[in-house]
Amino acid sequence: MKITVAGTGYVGLVTGTGFANLGNDVICLDIDHDKINLLSNGVMQIYEPGLEEIFQQNLKSGRIKFTTDGKKAVQESDIIFICVGTPENEREEADLTAVKEVAKTIGIHMNDYKIVVNKSTVPVGTADLVKKIITENQQTKIEFDVVSNPEFLREGAAVKDFENPDRIVIGTDSLKAEKIMASLYRSRARTDRPIMVTDILSAEIIKYASNAMLATRISFMNQLSYLCEITGADIKEVAKGMGFDNRIGPRFLQAGVGYGGSCFPKDVKALISTLKQNDCDSDLFEAVNRINAKQKSIVVKKLKSILEIRDSTIAVWGISFKPKTDDIREAPSLKIIEELQSMGAKIHACDPVAIENAKKILNDVEFFENPYEAIRDCDALIVATEWNEFRNLDLRAVKILLKNPIIIDGRNIYDPKEMRGLGFTYMGVGR
Ligand code: NAD
Repeated sequence: MKITVAGTGYVGLVTGTGFANLGNDVICLDIDHDKINLLSNGVMQIYEPGLEEIFQQNLKSGRIKFTTDGKKAVQESDIIFICVGTPENEREEADLTAVKEVAKTIGIHMNDYKIVVNKSTVPVGTADLVKKIITENQQTKIEFDVVSNPEFLREGAAVKDFENPDRIVIGTDSLKAEKIMASLYRSRARTDRPIMVTDILSAEIIKYASNAMLATRISFMNQLSYLCEITGADIKEVAKGMGFDNRIGPRFLQAGVGYGGSCFPKDVKALISTLKQNDCDSDLFEAVNRINAKQKSIVVKKLKSILEIRDSTIAVWGISFKPKTDDIREAPSLKIIEELQSMGAKIHACDPVAIENAKKILNDVEFFENPYEAIRDCDALIVATEWNEFRNLDLRAVKILLKNPIIIDGRNIYDPKEMRGLGFTYMGVGR
């Protein structure tokens, strides 16, 4: 099939590359000329395990192409995926500016029947809005369908998730679009994962409901972690005991420094806004959001209780919002570093892949790729991201390199007993 993917960020690049790799002809459209130039020349723009290799293969074979030319991108494709960003605006809603712009471009240049697929995370009702904008901008009346096909990929495992998704949700009111979408996704359905066809409005809500549920589980455990600390229980044991229950399951039950990233924070807030706009209660999600905001400060609060932060040097391991990605949007590490700096600390930050992105927004931070180098002569170490690279280090060497053997483990990656046995002043979250 001939596919256009508008937006070449984390979702667009994975989607475009993934569909090209299945044998489709893909055009990736973006308004960022530099990005398009670099991608056309084979320079990958994000870190995503496994993506680079299939990207290079498909670029070489010509199955994936890059352009800033909206007309060409619209006219040369049958299916157009909208994968542009929908960041939080000043009212804490999803900013639909880019989605509307793409819809307008599609309307202006439409030359024959197209399926327009909303893959960006957008509030319920946005498919109708896209339909309206396209219709208003059409030069002549041409038939088209707007489909909601929310994306559930996880950064760090996005290629795997594209190839083997838990489910594919297609929201449509058109039999024609349903057939074409089902045939596009047929190769992925071989993995026995369901293609769920539903109405458009439900599909749009499924995406927010899924992210809000996962965020709720994290805030749920973070709230309980305080009770564990006060009573002497261990939140990891509590999570384990809960997770054995099939009705609950073990995932997303980790207490820590809270959730970050380009999705959960903004999606929870956008859901709250949508609920309010529809005169519905939003107290549960407001609490989830509030608990998470508080949680990002927890490690600094703990450190402050045992160390004079002014004029100290603190090492922070992990900058990305989670392991296996270079994405630092809304990463807890940023808030931690900002708070420490405002209290007068010097920062040594270490991350396996996110340093380049961090350099663009963090000032007065010394960056290290090597975790041992990062901690040399530091007054304390904070673990902000649970990269595997930090799990099996030589803790005796860590103790020698640190000026004070203080570790605040914001991700509970170490065993408190072992750490105290080694002579560390060790604090996790909820343990
Ligand atoms: P991103 O910020 O990484 O990329 C967005 C891209 O869109 C940028 O390259 C930008 O230049 C481009 N763009 C902006 N306006 C454009 C326009 N008018 N025409 C063409 N391109 C334009 O965003 P992302 O992380 O890939 O997320 C995209 C959408 O997918 C968001 O709605 C997000 O909520 C959703 N989503 C993201 C993830 C994730 O893990 N990142 C997962 C699921 C869903």
